Parts: sequence; C-alpha cells; structure tokens
Amino acid sequence: MAETAPASPRTRFAQNDDGVVVIIGSGAGGGTLAHELTRRGIRVVLFEAGKRLTLEDFSQVPGEAFAMLTWLDPRTQSGTWTVREDFPTLPSWTCKTVGGTTVHWTGACPRQQPWELRARTEYGDLPGTSLIDWPIAYEELEKYYDLAERRLVVTRRHGVPGLPASNKFKVMYAGAKALGYQRVHTGYMAINSQPADGRPPCLQMGFCVQGCKIGAKWSTLYTEIPRAEATGNLDLRAECMVTRIEHGPDGRVTGVVYRDPSGREQRQRARLVCVACNAVETARLLLLSESGKFPRGLANSSDQVGRNYCHHVGGFVWGCFDKPVHAWRGAVLAGVVEDETKNDPKRGFVGGYHLELAMLDLPSLPLAGLPYMWGRELAAVMEDYRNMSGMFICGEDLPRPDNRITLDPTVRDQYGLPVAHIHVDDHENDTAMRTHAQTQATRIFEAVGARRVVCSRATPATHNMCTARMSADPCDGVCNGWGQTHDVPNLFISDGSAFSTPGSANPTLTIVALALRQADYIERQMSARSI
Ligand SMILES: Cc1cc2nc3c(=O)[nH]c(=O)nc-3n(C[C@H](O)[C@H](O)[C@H](O)COP(=O)(O)OP(=O)(O)OC[C@H]3O[C@@H](n4cnc5c(N)ncnc54)[C@H](O)[C@@H]3O)c2cc1C
Ligand code: SF4
Repeated sequence: MAETAPASPRTRFAQNDDGVVVIIGSGAGGGTLAHELTRRGIRVVLFEAGKRLTLEDFSQVPGEAFAMLTWLDPRTQSGTWTVREDFPTLPSWTCKTVGGTTVHWTGACPRQQPWELRARTEYGDLPGTSLIDWPIAYEELEKYYDLAERRLVVTRRHGVPGLPASNKFKVMYAGAKALGYQRVHTGYMAINSQPADGRPPCLQMGFCVQGCKIGAKWSTLYTEIPRAEATGNLDLRAECMVTRIEHGPDGRVTGVVYRDPSGREQRQRARLVCVACNAVETARLLLLSESGKFPRGLANSSDQVGRNYCHHVGGFVWGCFDKPVHAWRGAVLAGVVEDETKNDPKRGFVGGYHLELAMLDLPSLPLAGLPYMWGRELAAVMEDYRNMSGMFICGEDLPRPDNRITLDPTVRDQYGLPVAHIHVDDHENDTAMRTHAQTQATRIFEAVGARRVVCSRATPATHNMCTARMSADPCDGVCNGWGQTHDVPNLFISDGSAFSTPGSANPTLTIVALALRQADYIERQMSARSI
C-alpha cells in the first residue's frame, strides 16, 4: 500500500523567514513543484486549504467521498453553457484536500499534440476567440513529458504495460473497431498495471473518483508530498487557506497572508511565491491580491487574469445493452479512441477530441450524468444500470475573452472574501464539436447492439485552464513560457492556469511536465540570484 504518513519530525520554517519558497496548493502542479524544489535543497512552505487524509480515511460511499474531498466553498456562475441550469451550485468540480484533485482524478494521461501548441497559427483568427500560440514549442516540452510519464509511471509509455481490458472497454473497443477506428486502447494511465514506485497494481475496483484506497493511482498525496517531506525541506501547512499575496514597494512579492486551522490570520514571508490553486482559485487569489500598485489584481496589468477560461468540451454518452456490462467495475477511464484527436475542419469545427471510457457510480450517474432527465424517462434508463456502458468526451474548447473568472460582487466565503464567479458562453465551435463527438460515440455503441443511447449535456468543469496564461507578448497573457508572471519576477503560475490554450488532452500530465520544467528554471534563477 502507498504511504501517506507525514515525515517525522515535522519540518517548520519561521514565519519571518524570507528565504523560503511559498507554494499555494498541493495538487498536481503544487505537489510536484514542492517535491522538485525540496529535493534540490530548496526550502518550501506548501499551503493547502484542505485537510490531510490517509488512504484509510477514503470512503467508497460516493456521497461521503464527495463531501470529504470536494471544494464546497460557494462559487457562482453565469453564461449560456448548460452547466448553469444543470449544476447551479457546482460550475467547477475540484478538490480541497492535501493532494488536491489528484485524489479524485481518474488518471488519464494523454499528451497535447504538437500542433495544439500552435492553436492560433493552426486555426486562424476565429471570430469570438482569443486564441494565441504557446510561447514554447512541443519539442521543448517533450523531454518533460518523458520525465512526467516516468514519474507518474504512465501505462503504454517507456515500456510500462497497458492496463487490462475491462468489460466496458471491450464494448467500446468492439464498437470503435467496427466503425473503422484504429487508435483504440486501454489508455495512457497514471494507474499501476504492475507494482511500481512503491505502489501496488490496480485491483480494478472502480473507486478511482472516491480516492484509490491502495494507492495504485498516482496522487501527490502519497507520492510527491511524503517524498518532499523526507528531504527535511518541506513545511506542509494543511488547513491553511491563503487569502492574499503581498508585495513590497518595488512590486516584488514578499509573502502571503493566510488563515490557520483555527481561522486566525497569519503571515508568511517568502523569497518567491508559486500559485497552484487550480485555475479558478488561482485567478481568484490574484484578483483578491489587488493593491494600489496593482489595482486590477496582482500581475494583471494586461487585464488577462481570469480571462480565456477553458474547461474542455465535455459530456457523457451512455449506451444501454441487452446483456450485463457491469461497467462500474474496472479503472473508471481506462480506454480511449484517439482517432478524432486531429484538426480536420471538414468535420465542421477546428481542433480535436478524445473519446474516453467512463462510468459513474449509481448515485452520481443520474445526478452528474443525466441531470436534465426526470420521472419515467430517467427511471427507464436507470433500470438498465447493470447493462450500461459509458464514454466521456474530452475536446478542445476555444478561449474567449469574456469566458472568465471574476470576484462575485455579493457572495462571500467563510472569511468574508468574495467567491469566484465563472462566466461561460459556449462558442459555436464547441457546440459543433460536442454534437460530432456525441454522434460518433452513439455510432460506436450502436455498432455493438445498443438498444438505446442517451447523452448528457456539459458536465461541471473538472479541467480548469488558461486563466493566467503564458504568452510571448505580455499584453496577451499573464506569464512567460516558464510560468513567471510578466509583471512580478518572483511570482509564478504553477498549474493549468498557465496553459496558453487547452488542447484536447486531459490536463494533468501537462501540468506536471510544466511544473518539472519550472523547477529547473527556478533552481537556475535562484542560483544566479536573479529571483
Ligand atoms: C472527477 C475528476 C476526474 C479527473 N480525471 C482526470 C484525468 O483522468 N486526467 C486528467 O488529466 N485530469 C483529470 N482531472 C483533473 C485533474 O484532477 C486536475 O487537472 C489537476 O488535479 C489540477 O491540478 P492543479 O495543481 O491545478 O490543482 P488541484 O490538483 O486541484 O490542486 C489545487 C489545490 O489548491 C488548494 N487551494 C486552492 N486555493 C487555495 C488557497 N487559497 N490556499 C491554499 N490552498 C488552496 C485546493 O484545496 C487544492 O487542493 C479530473 C478531475 C476530477 C474532478
Ligand atoms: S480501479 Fe484501480 S486505480 Fe481505481 S480505485 Fe480501483 S485499484 Fe485504484
């Protein structure tokens, strides 16, 4: 079983120690960066708003797990996306716990495509979008993808065997092959197919979203964070919510204000600050840190903080069959059709999408998978639960300047601070892509005899990106190609907020690759004393 226990004795750095690096958020970006910096001898204070749990704490009762892990502080929303109607109180689904959303996640680790990093060049000047190219080329990212895949022990990469086929995968595979798809397999998964990295192989229990009780699935909770603690250079402050990043008269950040577990306000000084709160909260924290020098929010002279919010074209497709599939068994997302991951405008839209295997547990399927359905119609579908199989659409949505995170003018959190407000209007490209993906997924299920196929609408955003994006031109974004903000040299963006565009890949592998790359840069700059 993987190890979650804190190192003993616990490292503590003084609150007035201005030589430490402060990282905010302990998920994919922050947890990875913390390990990378501490193993190089750099002292880190890692702030995490949520509690530290152990594998024993995880509950396989879905409602209990959701309540234990999810970010439940209020968020508000507006816009034409259907999430506003279907999930009025949950526009975005993220975690508040040590390990962040890597506790909840399902482990799919595809890479971005080389051309997705040149989206503006590739797709052209599309009306209603704010597309840019990434300031880094795929070739630069490639070696960090290799490193990230080895760190996460991703299946089907670097000689690691794929996960075995579950029943639901066999259904998807047979249908996809009947349609002529070629690139269909059990996925690039950060879930062990064999013992590796001190963690056991997957038992195909199907509780990935509730937290993997044996640690077969990678999470910073039991990989990067305990390893960082073992260096003696990590001071993890769980249940400590950062409410503001402070700066000096020269505009360089000097530390953070936070609430300790008892709710008391405290301060921590810092040499530099890295923000990895997941893209909604990262934007919110920068906006909350406004000052006389940064009246629109910290590092926001471009007015790009919070804008260009991307969340992927998502949604479920459910097939109902005559015979049992038992689709709740087996790793939740371990299967993919990659053939539609291409830019072929003849399909009626730019960009591509993945069709991924998926299943939801019984209470979640009607709630999250078919929220618009009711009464007899829903009952008829749910009668088929044993005979159902599912797929998840993960496609590239297009950045729009007004799809953005702002501070809600009226709703406040437990500390009296404005909560994040999320505004999303779907672009017609997103709608066309969703329709295409739903049609293809329906055809896959029908090719293997589905009696009935039903589609969800958009789901709460589990992938949050681009709200403090990298840009070559400081006017177009918030940070440079290293995640270093254009305005404040000792302030870094270390999560999916920094993506210039979302691509069609589930984001976590890219977040980890960028964090590994950023750690190299921070070490060099600290050694050169330029930050
Ligand atoms: C159900 C589900 C399934 C998913 N499956 C996949 C998948 O298969 N593949 C994939 O690539 N991605 C998947 N994702 C998305 C993936 O989990 C995220 O992309 C990833 O975890 C984001 O990393 P992050 O570091 O940006 O943020 P997180 O991992 O969310 O970490 C952010 C942390 O910051 C903390 N925080 C926020 N604000 C503050 C503050 N002010 N002070 C202190 N702490 C703060 C939060 O509590 C949180 O713990 C899934 C997500 C969900 C919900
Ligand atoms: S299916 Fe595998 S990864 Fe998912 S919870 Fe079970 S053992 Fe863990």
